[in-house]
Amino acid sequence: MIPLFPNTCIGCGKITSTPLCCDCEQEWATKHRQASKHFSQKGDEIFTCCQYNGLGGKIIRSFKYGRRFDALPIISTALSGVVIELGEDNFSYIIPVPQSLRKIFSRGFHPIEMIGHQVSQHTSIPVNVKILKRKWSWHEKDQASLNKQNRLHNLSRSFYAIRNETWGKNLQVLLIDDVATTGTTLFRCKEAVQKQYPDWKIKILVFAHG
Ligand SMILES: [Zn+2]
Repeated sequence: MIPLFPNTCIGCGKITSTPLCCDCEQEWATKHRQASKHFSQKGDEIFTCCQYNGLGGKIIRSFKYGRRFDALPIISTALSGVVIELGEDNFSYIIPVPQSLRKIFSRGFHPIEMIGHQVSQHTSIPVNVKILKRKWSWHEKDQASLNKQNRLHNLSRSFYAIRNETWGKNLQVLLIDDVATTGTTLFRCKEAVQKQYPDWKIKILVFAHG
């Protein structure tokens, strides 16, 4: 049967009416989608759903750069699965890593916030985008274009957290991002939140690692 609105499979490019064809869906469920734990260069625990090098990378790139919004449920379902394993009742907020305004303007959407809201729907953990902020800077370079040493320097003091007593004490919160390579961005975000909320526990969850 020819689908009414033909689309291509994110994994292999085959024509299909779903974001992944049957074969890639099978591959995703049995091989690529695998919750695991990594450590950043600074020693922070990072929970992940898949490797960037493989189908996971294709899925996240198709969403972020290819505007394949039908990839969003795949991403958020995988992330929510990990949150449920960690115990969704243990978390007070989902905190999406803020994007630079330059990127939000050029893309026209905020992928991490969208992911955060979807995970929130699956897990009932509220998203709080008011805690963690990113400073507006003309000079901030794209992290992907820099080497490891420069990445750390580039992001220093880019993130800050807003102190608000009413958000609660001794909470556990979930910092969410799409991809972690060195974990530098996540470390800076965690550091910023920890500075304002030293009594909070911050768990880090990303979709793809590598
Ligand atoms: Zn396929």
